[in-house]
This record gives sequence, structure tokens and C-alpha cells, in this order.
Amino acid sequence: MNEPAATQGDHYDVIVVGSGPGGGTTAATLAKTGKRVLLLERGDFLPRERANWESKEVFSENRYVANETFYDLHDKPFRPELHYFVGGNSKVYGAALFRLNPKDFGAVRHPDGISPEWPISYDDLEPYYVQAEHLYWVHGKHGEDPFAGPSSRDYKFPPVKHEPRIQELSDGLEKQGLHPFHLPIGVNLVQNADKHAGGARTLRVERGQDAIRVSVIDAGPGLEREGRDRMFDRYWRGVADGTGKGLGLALVRAVAELHGGVADARQVSAHGLDVGFSLAGVRGWNETAREELSSPSTNDNN
Ligand SMILES: Cc1cc2nc3c(=O)[nH]c(=O)nc-3n(C[C@H](O)[C@H](O)[C@H](O)COP(=O)(O)OP(=O)(O)OC[C@H]3O[C@@H](n4cnc5c(N)ncnc54)[C@H](O)[C@@H]3O)c2cc1C
Repeated sequence: MNEPAATQGDHYDVIVVGSGPGGGTTAATLAKTGKRVLLLERGDFLPRERANWESKEVFSENRYVANETFYDLHDKPFRPELHYFVGGNSKVYGAALFRLNPKDFGAVRHPDGISPEWPISYDDLEPYYVQAEHLYWVHGKHGEDPFAGPSSRDYKFPPVKHEPRIQELSDGLEKQGLHPFHLPIGVNLVQNADKHAGGARTLRVERGQDAIRVSVIDAGPGLEREGRDRMFDRYWRGVADGTGKGLGLALVRAVAELHGGVADARQVSAHGLDVGFSLAGVRGWNETAREELSSPSTNDNN
């Protein structure tokens, strides 16, 4: 990072090197103990740009991969798939957060040799898998994956719903006696609601006669009329905290309008805001989906 966080003479109880999932998780856990924790990261923040979303740029062109050369056992050079940024490889990863299989902890024979038995077992790690899955907002369903080990707790969030075509494929595979399952995915589907509001959030899809409305309902402080009228304007920001560009909701409105819809915000009772968009002429919805989202706070490891 450009600016050193520490000055000479500062004392830290723990110094964690690297802010990837390993270091980040360790630092987040240690911070709860009240210890002074310093997280050292060699990389800068990943610049936000269009190419972040281009899988060709990220995966094929290796746009963000460290420009380094490593050498394998036979001195053959290779470019390691490392990303030196705050967040490490998790800035570009797929967020499919599987557990290791219980068998992986034993000795495993590979074509090139034997991976030795671990000194700990799947059962030893199981409670920590639960903590990590809750920390990383993993959406999924334990018990669906026939190869996975047992879990003492379910994920905090249900699986991310398949797109209609993927659901068709899944149904077809099931009919053939196979066992397709939802990937356990660590995603935050309600980032803005989480940032600006506390408590439970609800992601709701309502079906009308020939239209749907998709909205996120939070239990935060709400927003006065003027703010609700302006929140879809470009560059408008509810909180001038220096983060965010005020473009997210403007884009929501633009895309909704492009498809003949509207975006709107409603105050819900005394507290909370209901922000969403409606699209007319949408057919094929046969249910009202409703996902209750509790707020996984960093203090909650249960
Ligand atoms: C394209 C891609 C997709 C992936 N998809 C998935 C997936 O879907 N599911 C999954 O489970 N895993 C996935 N992974 C793997 C996953 O990202 C890694 O297993 C995980 O990031 C490893 O975490 P880590 O903290 O050990 O290391 P890293 O994420 O590599 O983090 C290490 C950090 O340490 C910093 N650092 C290194 N040296 C120093 C130093 N000397 N001083 C200070 N800082 C230093 C680095 O800059 C980096 O930020 C993917 C990886 C890639 C590249």
C-alpha cells in the first residue's frame, strides 16, 4: 500500500502479513479479542474499472496477475497466479467456498506422489468451517452435495437461485438420477442496504398480474422525501463519506427504464426503506420469491 499505516514506535500485539482470505480472516478474528493488530499488505487497492468485470481480462489476459517468475521443482519458470492487492486473490476469485472433503485430510495418492495425512481431521476443523461460512456470507445448502462432509450448522443464507435455464438443466440431471447441487457461493447480494442500514434486510420479488417488482427492504433509519426523490440521480450520495460514486442506483434506474420499467424508493413504516424496480410485461414467474436476510455481524460466529 502507498501510505504506511504505522509510525515508528507504534506497538502491536500481532502483525499479520498479507490481507488475502488467510490474513484477512485471521486479522478480523484477532481484532475481536481487543488486541492491537497490524495488517501488512504489499499491494495497493485494486483499481475499480470496467475490466474488473471482464472474465477475459481477469482470467485469460491475466490483467491483474503479479508480474513475477517462479520456478518449479525442475527449474521450469512459470508466472504464479498471485494477485498483490488488498484482499489478495479474493479480489478476483470465484467465491465458490467449498469445504475440503473429509478424505482430503488423510494420505492421498496423486500421480506425482503421496500427499501425507494431516495432523488434524475434518472434525477438528468443522466448527471453524461454520464460522468462516457465516463470516463470508456463503449462500448454499448443506446436504445437497453428495461428496461433502457433514455440517453441524447450515449456511446463514439459502442458495442463490438458479437462472431459469440452469434450473432446467439441474432438473434434467436429477431426472437422470444424478445429484446436481447449488455451489456454495460467498456473495453479498444486498451491499448497499447493508452499508446504510442495520438489522434485517429482505430481498423481495413480488409478482403482479403481468409485472414484477424487485426490491431490497431494510430496517435502517430511512430517508426523508427529498432524499427518496433524488437517490436515483447520478452522483447523488446519501452519506458524504468519500466512498461510492453515487452511480449504482442511477444505473439501476437507467437499466429499468431501458426495459420499460421504473425504479422507486418507499419509506416503510417509521423505519426502513424499500428500494426497488418494477418491470412490466414479465411472464413466466410462477411464485413470489422472498429471501429473509439476517444481518451477519462480525461478532456473530454462531
Ligand atoms: C482467478 C482465481 C479464482 C479463484 N476462485 C476460487 C474460488 O472460487 N473458490 C476458492 O475457494 N478459491 C478460489 N481461488 C483461490 C483463492 O483465491 C485462494 O485460495 C485464496 O485467495 C488464498 O488466500 P491466502 O490469504 O492464502 O493468499 P492470497 O489470497 O494470495 O493473499 C496473500 C496476500 O499477501 C500479500 N503479500 C504477499 N507477500 C507479502 C509480503 N511480503 N508483505 C506483505 N504482503 C504480502 C499479497 O499481496 C496478498 O494480498 C481462486 C484464485 C484465483 C486466482
